[in-house]
Amino acid sequence: MASVILPAAPSESRPGRFGIYGGRYVPETLMAALVELEHEYEAAKADAAFQAELASLLHDYAGRPTPLYFARRLSEELGGAKIYLKREDLLHTGAHKINNALGQGLLARRMGKMRIIAETGAGQHGVAAATVCALLGMQCVIYMGDVDMERQELNVLRMRLLGAEVRGVSCGSKTLKDAISEAMRDWVTNVRTTHYLLGSALGAHPYPTMVRDFHRVISREIKQQILEKEGRLPHAVVACVGGGSNAIGAFYEFIPHREVRLIGVEAGGRGSALGEHAARFEGGVPGVLQGTYSYVLQDEDGQIAQTHSVSAGLDYASIGPEHAALHDSGRAEYLSRDDAEALDAVVKLARTEGILPALESAHAVAECIRMAPGMAARDILVVNLSGRGDKDMGILARELKL
Ligand SMILES: *Cc1c(COP(=O)(O)O)cnc(C)c1O
Repeated sequence: MASVILPAAPSESRPGRFGIYGGRYVPETLMAALVELEHEYEAAKADAAFQAELASLLHDYAGRPTPLYFARRLSEELGGAKIYLKREDLLHTGAHKINNALGQGLLARRMGKMRIIAETGAGQHGVAAATVCALLGMQCVIYMGDVDMERQELNVLRMRLLGAEVRGVSCGSKTLKDAISEAMRDWVTNVRTTHYLLGSALGAHPYPTMVRDFHRVISREIKQQILEKEGRLPHAVVACVGGGSNAIGAFYEFIPHREVRLIGVEAGGRGSALGEHAARFEGGVPGVLQGTYSYVLQDEDGQIAQTHSVSAGLDYASIGPEHAALHDSGRAEYLSRDDAEALDAVVKLARTEGILPALESAHAVAECIRMAPGMAARDILVVNLSGRGDKDMGILARELKL
């Protein structure tokens, strides 16, 4: 934890700041690389050829646009709102992560950096990064906590098959936070040749903005699809929040539409005591972790707290800085669903719709199951189904005694 110097005049218009949150709290050795990345990203954003190549890969390789599916049986069984599922689980590699991995992969190639490093929690980002590296002919090193390597073994094997080197991280809690720290250490050492392909809307500027932009396509599609199907905007959009990339992607285009509720679901884990969950807005306070100023689960000395969730992808002590600002302004609402509710939601969605959600996404489904019965039949609820559950079969077999 570093001491925090807040900007003199917090302003939305300042690049990399979301109100008072965000910023760039990194060692000096990384500043040049972050500035280079920011400039290169701005140039790519304005470059029609870059955007066309990304759009074509998203369409032909990743499988966009993803369907917005009306979950008729689930809606009828819950007896309230009409529930739509945004099917990011149908994307190549099984989760939304590929949107960002393709964008940053193309950007790295543009910068001439042909070595990619990345961190991964559930392994979905590692698989997406390894996939893009294979596609673009790049070298790939993935950092992953030992605990996560054990609980997401299938994804470790997938990364290796794709040609990536997976480096286990055995310090700290041996999960995502420690994997990010190791990746940052690697980046400091190899910054001239290496791009750090960060997997969520986290970290120092420009990452939270850039990663959000690469996922913005989710809400752009939802908006167009729901207008085509229903002729009006949804009552609410619900998404799970780990670092916050799928949620900010699903929320972003709706932010100006104040009648649309934006609901982020954090991991309630197995209890409300510090260390038993990853609900940053229910026990965290603002602080700096891994390059950005946001809500952080920490003890009274500012030491980062342990976190727990049945889903590795939500198991992180901080949250993307744009969510911190949306939380404080009240534009988005955040709450948590616990491990047991997420597991129940997996079973419910599997049995009513024949869809196995990732355990992360199941937290959003669980909130939808809680909300929908109290809503009117006219109300539309959109749930961002960020990924599919295949990777979780080992945990599901154990927890559900299959
Ligand atoms: C990684 C992951 C998440 C959590 O990451 P965000 O950046 O918060 O989206 C959620 N769902 C799935 C399926 C994931 O793989």
